[in-house]
Amino acid sequence: MNNPRFEKYVSCKWIESGVCFDNGVYGSNVKLCCYMSAPGGGNTMIFEDYKGGKIDWNEFFKIKRAYRDIQKSGNTVEGCRGCVFLEERLWCQDDYIDNILIDHFTKCNCFCTYCYTEEDKKRYNSLKTYNIYPIIKDMFDKNIIRRGGAIGFGGGEPTILPEFDKLIKLFLKNRFDDMRVPSSGIKFSPVIAKGISTGQLSVVVSVDSSSRETYKKIKQIDKYETVCKNLKKYSKAQTKYFNVISKYIIMPGVNDTKEEIDNWMRFNKENKIEVIVIDIENSALNKYRHEKPDERILDLIRYVKQRAFEMKFYRLEICDRAKYLADIKN
Ligand code: SF4
Ligand code: SF4
Repeated sequence: MNNPRFEKYVSCKWIESGVCFDNGVYGSNVKLCCYMSAPGGGNTMIFEDYKGGKIDWNEFFKIKRAYRDIQKSGNTVEGCRGCVFLEERLWCQDDYIDNILIDHFTKCNCFCTYCYTEEDKKRYNSLKTYNIYPIIKDMFDKNIIRRGGAIGFGGGEPTILPEFDKLIKLFLKNRFDDMRVPSSGIKFSPVIAKGISTGQLSVVVSVDSSSRETYKKIKQIDKYETVCKNLKKYSKAQTKYFNVISKYIIMPGVNDTKEEIDNWMRFNKENKIEVIVIDIENSALNKYRHEKPDERILDLIRYVKQRAFEMKFYRLEICDRAKYLADIKN
């Protein structure tokens, strides 16, 4: 028998049951998701110019239902046109949220040369934001949030948000088990360590180097040793899963030697950091769209794949764009 709570049509988890609290290049708002690479442009608003405060959830779901209805009619929400995340399947018709991106802040304690905030670091480090804790708490109190999806952070550096500890504790207490926190790794966070130990949270630190000098060139701050120390502490907190993730964004001409990468991989292996991620820096990627990609860089990506296999890492994630460039199928 058909379950009337489910209907089959083309949609995505963010249209159906997701929300992104944003404060970045496009201002402070509440929108469906953070993806802007769809041909339609993404950036579909629920509330524009939102600067915190009580949310009228009836109004919120009225707007979300209107987007859902467009999908149910066989059309596509304008910003979602051509998005790779659209899929046909059964979608639950309840009003609820299970995927949240917390991205309402831009302040960071690091200075990565490839970061979008580099365009005006002073502005992004002083952009005013709001306390998101009461909003999330209200969602719990009103039974709007369900487990089953993922809680992610953007930013900015999450661990320096004043409400970060309270927020993570709230999700941990409510048995959310899929939180992914990107962090510069400069500040050690006991609640992150707690989430790692219970298996409910993963931390992702983009080290991008294996030496103090290279780190300083990329991050414009002398904190390589601190980050390594904190990664080791997070790694020691692992009990059930490998949920400390070390990332390396290749910047051609800066950190693109086999030696630098070998040492990064060795550091991870020696410290039981078994999940590693490799990616290419955005401006290099854009350049390769117009020019023939540098074979040496593509070889480097293939080399990481080979070495990860030889060194028996639990998992190597090659970001889609790097995979595509290096013609790696899986
Ligand atoms: S842009 Fe893509 S990910 Fe975002 S809501 Fe639309 S279909 Fe979903
Ligand atoms: S750690 Fe993240 S937010 Fe901070 S400067 Fe680097 S890329 Fe930007």
